[in-house]
Amino acid sequence: MKRCILDLTKTELAETISPPFRATQIYQWIYQKHAESFEAMRNIPKKLRAQLDEAYDLSPLQTVNVEESGDGSKKYLFRCRDGVTIESVLLPMKKARYDDSGKLLQETKYTVCVSSQVGCKIGCAFCLTAKGGFTRNLTAGEIVAQVLEIKKDNRIAHNRRLNIVYMGMGEPLDNIENVAKAVKIFNDPDGLSISARRQTISTSGLSSQIKKLGEMNLGVLLAISLHAVDDTLREKLMPINKAYNIESIIDAVKNFPIDQRKRVMFEYLVMKGLNDDIKSAKKLVKLLHGIKAKVNLIYFNPYPGSPFQRPEKEDMLAFQEYLIKHGVLCTIRQSKGLDISAACGQLREKTKNDHS
Ligand code: SAH
Ligand code: SF4
Repeated sequence: MKRCILDLTKTELAETISPPFRATQIYQWIYQKHAESFEAMRNIPKKLRAQLDEAYDLSPLQTVNVEESGDGSKKYLFRCRDGVTIESVLLPMKKARYDDSGKLLQETKYTVCVSSQVGCKIGCAFCLTAKGGFTRNLTAGEIVAQVLEIKKDNRIAHNRRLNIVYMGMGEPLDNIENVAKAVKIFNDPDGLSISARRQTISTSGLSSQIKKLGEMNLGVLLAISLHAVDDTLREKLMPINKAYNIESIIDAVKNFPIDQRKRVMFEYLVMKGLNDDIKSAKKLVKLLHGIKAKVNLIYFNPYPGSPFQRPEKEDMLAFQEYLIKHGVLCTIRQSKGLDISAACGQLREKTKNDHS
């Protein structure tokens, strides 16, 4: 199989071609002008175009399925070159606004949720991705391609601001080298130009890897999937807690380098009768003391055979109110794309069943 050109940082690309300065133009063709072939890269000498075509594939992903939800979010199912499938979601966070004369006041703000692995090793009890087990890590190019393909498909201009969250399938910190490389490729000003401050890495709490990520000093934002405030419950929900308990995670977060204006996000998946009580909210406030945090409450999204239930709205609101009253910033994640089953792993499972 040919190498994929999206796996290369601009520096790496420059090292493999002559003259090296052409790497800038090639990057612009790929990421900004959305070239469909090396042949289309008109200002690149014919000989170099042929060499590139000989050595590289331009995209590692094929679109298999797109599902659009009533709220505008779109879920993509992609096939990699070896046949495995992964998913990504495009989320319009704020709709475009126009004045009475039809003049654009504010453009739609997009977030793309990307996968970092095929499947996942962590095995959380509430997560559909976990059920399929682990297949392999994604390459940096396969991570980058998810955003590139979605931008192309939606004709999103290359210079439009966009946020990335590593919250699709997989545990990003279990594939830290490729994820870090993707962060850098996204960042390139001749490429997609998505700064690290617009990229959020979500982790189930691999404390030693959080430390390693911090030492890499990429400038990315961090989200912790906490979901429980005591170790006994967290171990049941997330077996990884036996290796890295809550205290070790809080320690790692306290030492993580983060932009003074930004916050560490704590995701809290709320399950009925399990972690939705005020006692838990109280513990959460204590736990986050001294951290510039923001809590994001998530409604558990049930799937056929899931052992947990969606919480009541009143309990969610009471939980949120308690946190806010005690000085902790807290939002409730609107279940975007619920009707297209956008919680992690769900589209892939569905398509599998449809085809079998
Ligand atoms: N592995 C990383 C990143 C991806 S997990 C992590 O765990 O942080 C993707 C997100 O989907 C997590 O926030 C997880 O809590 C959420 N999720 C998993 N199963 C869910 C379900 N059934 N309903 C709602 N959210 C779910
Ligand atoms: Fe893996 Fe995250 Fe799912 Fe847990 S919630 S199994 S870490 S993808």
